[in-house]
Amino acid sequence: MADLMQDAGIMCLKPCADPDSAYESIPASGFELTMSEAGAGSHGKRRPQPGLPPPRVQMLETVLDELAEPISVIDADYRVNYMNRAARELFSHNTDFLGLSLCHQISHRRSTPCSGVDHPCPVTRVRETGCSVRVLHEHYDGQGAKRVVEIIASPLRGRDEDFCGIIESQRDVTARERANEKIKRYAVELERSNRLKDLFIDIMRHDLLSPAGVIRSAAALGLRDETDALKREDLDMIHRSSQRMIELIQNASALAKLESEGQLPLEPTDIEAMIMAAARDLGPDAEEKGIRLTITGGFAGSVPANPLLASVFSNLIGNAVKYSPENSEILIAIAREDRGCRISVTDRGEGIPDPAKEKIFTRFTRLHKGVVKGTGLGLAIAKRIVELHEGRVWVEDAPGGGSVFLVQLACA
Ligand code: ADP
Repeated sequence: MADLMQDAGIMCLKPCADPDSAYESIPASGFELTMSEAGAGSHGKRRPQPGLPPPRVQMLETVLDELAEPISVIDADYRVNYMNRAARELFSHNTDFLGLSLCHQISHRRSTPCSGVDHPCPVTRVRETGCSVRVLHEHYDGQGAKRVVEIIASPLRGRDEDFCGIIESQRDVTARERANEKIKRYAVELERSNRLKDLFIDIMRHDLLSPAGVIRSAAALGLRDETDALKREDLDMIHRSSQRMIELIQNASALAKLESEGQLPLEPTDIEAMIMAAARDLGPDAEEKGIRLTITGGFAGSVPANPLLASVFSNLIGNAVKYSPENSEILIAIAREDRGCRISVTDRGEGIPDPAKEKIFTRFTRLHKGVVKGTGLGLAIAKRIVELHEGRVWVEDAPGGGSVFLVQLACA
């Protein structure tokens, strides 16, 4: 097509040193440029140059008209001398005005040429750089709708190498730009809500936790000295409520922190020892309910883990104790797998109905409201911690009744 254009005397693209330019340059020799003639004739039909075979010019015009991209030829004085069919249709431009209308009148509906950072004028930029340039503009189409377009403009030169205008093609990037705008706005909102969340966590940790701790200590002191039964009941209620408030604040801030955490430092850990320690700590609670804790299996390997993983086992074993009937058994098993290990905690409690099996791992989902105390955050925290270990935690029905909570972890 470059040859054809050269033959038609329409343009030449100057070789360009711009590394960003995606356009191949075409040597600027051996033909005469006739900007005044390019498209200046009536009905957008360019008059062929003397001596040039008219069929070739017609062929070139047919080719340009077949292109889906709007293409225009603009001279150094901003006159639009040529528009292919796509450009004429885009701007609903009457071909009689070709060579008379100015580019900023057609696409920007203004009387002065484009300027500034937002709308750099392609004619000026190409004249200054001598290279192909790529700019984003907001145009009005023929119906008056605003469109964001990417313009690629290249210099046109005469035989004497004088700059005499540009040839530009346009690509409608409105959808892309609007999507980018949306993403940018979303990122700003996200940043703002993250800052708010951090502020809220700080307030919880520093400004709510200490007064709650003071209330709990005062209630504990009162309980120690008070002999009146009614007052003791009130103090006990204050003590339990403040204890619950403290747990909630601690859990909620831990979860918020974990949710924004991208990864945790992991180090080879004796997972069996970690589980044994968690079970030992919960021994007194189990004993109180007459529950027998049994640990089976012999994994004897190490797992890349963070100390926070211990709280996952404390939560699962603690829940098993909380939600198991008195005098039942809890079985903790550690088994080696192909590329890791699997830990299971089986209880003889009520079990978890199928529709709730995933939900209980989301925050504030509690199936036993009022019956057993809790915050509804323990499993959500456990899930996040396991995810940060690239592992998996889930629940199944235990054969014979109850539930089995399982954790799958990769080995070192
Ligand atoms: P919490 O126990 O503090 O309420 P969790 O997030 O640890 O919060 O657990 C969410 C809910 O899942 C619990 O309220 C309980 O209804 C249910 N659940 C957890 N573990 C068990 C279990 N072993 N047996 C029966 N239900 C359980």
